Amino acid sequence: MKVLVPVKRVADAYVKVRAKADGTGADLNNVKMAINPFCEIAVEEAVRLKEAGTVTEIIAVSLGDKSCQEQIRTSLALGADRGIQVETDAELQPLAVAKLLKAIVDKEQPDIVLLGKQSIDGDNNQTGQMLAALAGLPQGTFASEIEVADGKVNVTREIDGGLQTVALNLPAIITTDLRLNEPRYASLPNIMKAKRKPLDVMTPDELGVDIAPRLTTVKVEPPAERSAGIKVESVEVLVDKLKNEAKVI
Ligand code: AMP
Repeated sequence: MKVLVPVKRVADAYVKVRAKADGTGADLNNVKMAINPFCEIAVEEAVRLKEAGTVTEIIAVSLGDKSCQEQIRTSLALGADRGIQVETDAELQPLAVAKLLKAIVDKEQPDIVLLGKQSIDGDNNQTGQMLAALAGLPQGTFASEIEVADGKVNVTREIDGGLQTVALNLPAIITTDLRLNEPRYASLPNIMKAKRKPLDVMTPDELGVDIAPRLTTVKVEPPAERSAGIKVESVEVLVDKLKNEAKVI
């Protein structure tokens, strides 16, 4: 069984990102970059399925400029078998990403595509769903548990009301939620081994995909600074302020 794991290069989750002075986007100069945390969970889950003997091959794929090869190599160090980079310097929006992934799905015919539920830079939460629609495949989003059995995959999903389990026919698209697993760290020997694993590079043109953006970013600015709070000396004063100053009760 083959699993395709799309991994996105994003600013490290622990870095405080600032807006560029001209408001055209986030300032990523000298910012530490990493695999999107939800994609890291997807790689970990694929590796666990391989360790359990369910999966035989894991392909890590990243779309972007040359620097995203770093995130593919990290995925290879974590246990993926080979990598694919679709190289472009252009800004990629979720529809373009989904179309490129669809072209790779057509070529590779994976049994499962395991994506993150969301990238932490754009917070889009769209790619997995769009890919499922474009490929005409069943989808299980926000997975907190995945179980493959008898040509099907059972996906337990985190939804507002609690947990829901859906049974999907394979091939299927799954997106990972935070509680699916805790990703491992790559060991030094595995980081060294990853350098020798195969990594194919292709372009959107070679895949025949139009990646022109459909959305325009009007302005990127930091949220308004919050003013400091105050301590009140009693419940009576609090109620009075809520009633007469904030006018919320
Ligand atoms: P999004 O819809 O942008 O929130 O992204 C959801 C998921 O789609 C991510 O967690 C990745 O698995 C995948 N994805 C989005 N953009 C890329 C990219 N440039 N390269 C590889 N995978 C991506």
